[in-house]
Amino acid sequence: MSDILLLLLLLVAIAIGYFLGRFNTRKKGEDYIARAFDKSYFKGLNQLLNEQPDAAIDTFIGALEVNSETLETHLALGNLLRRQGEVDRAIRIHQNLLARPGLPSFQQHHAQLELARDYVKAGLLDRAERLFQELVEQSPELRDTCLEGLVEIYRDEKEWEKAIAAVDQLVGRRFGPGLGKVPSKWRCAQAHFSCELAEQALAQNDYLTARRYLKAALGYDKTLVRASLLWGQMEHQLGNSREALKILKKIPQQDPDYVGEALRLFVQCHEQLGDFQGLQRFLQQLQDEYPSSSIILELTERIRQEQGDLAAAAYIGNQLKLHPSVRGVSRLLDFYLSYSKEKAQDNLRLLKELIDQIIATKPTYRCGHCGFTGNQLHWLCPSCKSWSTVKAIRGVEGE
Ligand SMILES: [Zn+2]
Repeated sequence: MSDILLLLLLLVAIAIGYFLGRFNTRKKGEDYIARAFDKSYFKGLNQLLNEQPDAAIDTFIGALEVNSETLETHLALGNLLRRQGEVDRAIRIHQNLLARPGLPSFQQHHAQLELARDYVKAGLLDRAERLFQELVEQSPELRDTCLEGLVEIYRDEKEWEKAIAAVDQLVGRRFGPGLGKVPSKWRCAQAHFSCELAEQALAQNDYLTARRYLKAALGYDKTLVRASLLWGQMEHQLGNSREALKILKKIPQQDPDYVGEALRLFVQCHEQLGDFQGLQRFLQQLQDEYPSSSIILELTERIRQEQGDLAAAAYIGNQLKLHPSVRGVSRLLDFYLSYSKEKAQDNLRLLKELIDQIIATKPTYRCGHCGFTGNQLHWLCPSCKSWSTVKAIRGVEGE
């Protein structure tokens, strides 16, 4: 148990003491309650001071009568315990609240919401789902919060159809014809859910269904690069590279930050069509509009294949002056290595190893929302659970 929790428990104990004071100033008939409470309170405080926080919590929970005045204290204590990872205790507090008769329905619902959150934290998603669903029906005030909770559960459980439906329910009442535009955050999430369904269909080689879901994804969010990438990949694998290119060429307008993700596929499609001139023209156009080190490296490779090493080295050397990048320097060193004398080669090799070590230790992707970094493209940020926020890092050390 952390020091912070101990400190907070002391604060809660003081809050309880405050309620105790209020009991004592009440009618004389209630004196016996106050006396019983008094005893438990000091017992709990003693346990706390003797560093028996577990026993102290149980004593306090047992001692504090649940009524509309103390409910907030119970909820605060429950939430505090949940945040500290003491989920079992939080569940006990919230279940205890719900077992008391006579709570006004709003407070009952509030306790139910907290219990659902405890279940989520404990990984008991089925129970959380049931509570959220009940509250969606019963509490207009908590409806939206609970629908958001349901969307998160369906996302974690990979129940994509249900997730799409829950977002529809969430935005249906607040937005729509005459009510304003649905926030892009929700449309983006629904588009990703559709992509997940498309991926499931693709895994079963069910291309018709996959196309239907990809079309739906772009219907929710026409800027979703993931849908275009998946679709282009599928058409290319089916031998329809012309169709694939038509889809993939929308990516720079959808979101230029993802151009690098499509580069390999651009090359493969042109290769399948045998259109090398078209590829070089297209890459050049991309480089003019959305310059990045990946495109420079791809163009360097094209030039090497057609005009040889010297032309390629000259090209990348010039490009590095305009768009300096560590990856570009590493590639340029490859050319120098194969053309220099033995002694110089040793030094160059050392330099290249050093630069490649730098590249290997740098993360290549970062979440623009929470700052999470890694070496893999995640459509859903593993840290903050935002969609489409992880992108390739730009600058000298990245793209
Ligand atoms: Zn994030």
